[in-house]
Amino acid sequence: MDFSNKKIIIFDLDGTLTESKADMDAEMADLICRLLKEKYVAVIGGGSWRQFEEQFLRRLLCPKENLHRLHLFPTTATRYFEYVNTEWKEVYADILSTEEKTKIFGTFAKSLEKAGYKKPERVWGELIEDRDTQVTFSALGQQAPIEDKKQWNKANNAIREKAATILRELLPEFEVRTGGLTSIDITKKGIDKAYGVRQIERALQIPISEMLFVGDALYPGGNDHAALDTGIEATQVNGPQETKDLIRGWVR
Ligand SMILES: [Mg+2]
Repeated sequence: MDFSNKKIIIFDLDGTLTESKADMDAEMADLICRLLKEKYVAVIGGGSWRQFEEQFLRRLLCPKENLHRLHLFPTTATRYFEYVNTEWKEVYADILSTEEKTKIFGTFAKSLEKAGYKKPERVWGELIEDRDTQVTFSALGQQAPIEDKKQWNKANNAIREKAATILRELLPEFEVRTGGLTSIDITKKGIDKAYGVRQIERALQIPISEMLFVGDALYPGGNDHAALDTGIEATQVNGPQETKDLIRGWVR
């Protein structure tokens, strides 16, 4: 791979720049700042804008003049934010209608029961969250600690996969994806990482051949896999540490 001909590096957020839903650490923040001096950087993730702010932006203490090279695509690129005149501005948002949301919430309830999901005794926050452009189920609640999520995933991932399969049958007009360790995301049809890559191409007028995608779930069935449909060059990492090694090689 020739990194010098790449204009933009697109990172998945959860599991790639940060541990699942955890804050970005200072070392990663520093590496991203250094990368922003040379390249455009885009971040696509299933999380909400609020999550992007807390998990990623709050930690990123870069000189402001480099932030215009950073482009953020929360809720799987159904929203796009850019940095204009010292502020983050929303460029677009693909909002789900009230009818669509009602249908998704009802179908979640049915499908989870059928798949054998039982609400754990302790949960952290809402189980099903309305993120306007996306509805997200998290088996332990939206703010569950990472260790609990890892444990749940080990014991119950088959239930999550089964629920996702049932949801895909009942909601063919929507996109159903598993993400992170405990989540299922539902968006409008055609909203996936490929959609995100094409939105970036359109918004920034950068050809896909000059993009590189870095993600922890590029394998078939993973929530980064769809990005490959665009023909984008991509690198699989097994977590933030490997992502750091990659960036270190680039900014040396
Ligand atoms: Mg990921």
